[in-house]
Amino acid sequence: MIETLHSDELVIGAGLSGLMYGLTAVTEGRSVIISEAHHKVGGYVTSFYRNKRKFHFDCSQHKVTGLNKDSGNLWNALDRLGLQSLIDEFHFYEELTTIVFRGKFIALPSDPEKIKETLLFNFPDEAQGIEKLFEDILSHGYQHYMFARMMLDEYKLNKDLLRESRFLSKLTTREYYNKLFKGEEIVEVLSAVAIYLGAVSHEVNAFYFLHFLYAAFYGGQSYIKGTGQHLSDVLLKEFLNRGGQILKKNPVYEIEDEGDFMQVRTKKKLIKAQRIIATCSPNDVVKMLGKENVEDSFLKTVDSYKIGWGHFGVYAVTSVPPEELGITCSEFLLVSDTGDHFSEDDFFTDAYYDMLTLSVTNYHKIDASGGYIIQFVVLDHGDKWFPLSEKEYIERKEKVQEQIIKRVYQTFPKLEGNLIYVESSTPKTNYKYTLSTQGSAFAYKVLPKTHLGLLNNFPNQKIKLVSSWVSGPGYESAMCFGFTQGLLLNNKKVLVHG
Ligand SMILES: Cc1cc2nc3c(=O)[nH]c(=O)nc-3n(C[C@H](O)[C@H](O)[C@H](O)COP(=O)(O)OP(=O)(O)OC[C@H]3O[C@@H](n4cnc5c(N)ncnc54)[C@H](O)[C@@H]3O)c2cc1C
Repeated sequence: MIETLHSDELVIGAGLSGLMYGLTAVTEGRSVIISEAHHKVGGYVTSFYRNKRKFHFDCSQHKVTGLNKDSGNLWNALDRLGLQSLIDEFHFYEELTTIVFRGKFIALPSDPEKIKETLLFNFPDEAQGIEKLFEDILSHGYQHYMFARMMLDEYKLNKDLLRESRFLSKLTTREYYNKLFKGEEIVEVLSAVAIYLGAVSHEVNAFYFLHFLYAAFYGGQSYIKGTGQHLSDVLLKEFLNRGGQILKKNPVYEIEDEGDFMQVRTKKKLIKAQRIIATCSPNDVVKMLGKENVEDSFLKTVDSYKIGWGHFGVYAVTSVPPEELGITCSEFLLVSDTGDHFSEDDFFTDAYYDMLTLSVTNYHKIDASGGYIIQFVVLDHGDKWFPLSEKEYIERKEKVQEQIIKRVYQTFPKLEGNLIYVESSTPKTNYKYTLSTQGSAFAYKVLPKTHLGLLNNFPNQKIKLVSSWVSGPGYESAMCFGFTQGLLLNNKKVLVHG
């Protein structure tokens, strides 16, 4: 007979949201079981090896925000959990990124004042718009960034900003940029950084995007060595040390409300818990409970969101250090000459692979121990991959890989003939390893007028959605939301871990 386990909390999923929630809740003295479908923890924050562990590929880490001492929300969360040694493992970038547009290489440093100087130097006619952008980042963007702390009564809302913030949330970022700037060039350059949020500027709402710009420009961009997997593994170790329990290779299938407790059917165990923390997609929680057991109004809310972008990733190894082949910075964002404003037709005909921002990351520069690793990433959507037969899938994957590599060669011709290993991932690969709906890597799209906060009130008090589907994507968002909910749902007792 299947074994039954009891706990205060059952967390579905050991991504960053689940690990941080679990860690906070056990620190608060709750008994917590995390049930994870995969054989390793981390969700998107994992890694994989090839060639007898000589090549080590990071699945997601580019920039981790929020680690500036005192001012960063992630720094604050880790500090309060007593994880100073983990904080010390983060290294800060000296450069944010290098944007390549129409043959020009614009290197953005990591310091916000220097980012501004660089923009003013490259776009002197746009000085007024640049000043206004930074004003908005420091007002609306900052306030949005501080929502997590406001929930803990640690930030007082500036009500004077609300009217304009509301207005900004009705615009796309591209519409907002078009209002600020006279020329199209700066709009294309600044649209490129939306890739970090898994978004494109003509979709993502401007208010939400300003919070990301605050985090990216002012929050300190950092990385951890040993790939993002190391971060996930450290969080797991702390969770276990503080009394938590993990069940790996253990997908959750079904949830039933038994009145006093929730009964959860998983692959290996039956779990009876007082509360369920779901870090998987809200669509999956509805399936686990059965649609008939969820209020119509909530079903409509879930249906109203658009599943966000996944990505097409090319994982490559070079024959010599990438720096010798012209990939001198840790990251380049290649912007198409015509910008990234694609139409439905461009999506349909696959022209978007040539139009969307393409990131080229030099992992060797960040952490040489993984090998001569470089990666190319472009946003891609599950709709393009899930309906295909196996044969169609393989053919399309090869075709898209070739198209992307060719695009990279145009900027870095020395790479040609020097890639000694290449493999790719698609939104279907994302699904395989994270069970994320439609292989979305960045949860729902935050379009104008989209409020993810509506997902905070799941119509069953014993279920709480705690994931990037609710907080928005990103290491910092996922970790801080897990932490904040861990405090809020458990009476905010842990302010500083002793
Ligand atoms: C290519 C790429 C690059 C990125 N780069 C960055 C970056 O540089 N900086 C940044 O801040 N963010 C980045 N992100 C985004 C960031 O990785 C994610 O937003 C974040 O990791 C999401 O964490 P999560 O815990 O909410 O979800 P997930 O990582 O999706 O974790 C969910 C977990 O739940 C498990 N699960 C799902 N269903 C079940 C079930 N039924 N039963 C049991 N377990 C289940 C999954 O296996 C998974 O482990 C990137 C993402 C990608 C794909």
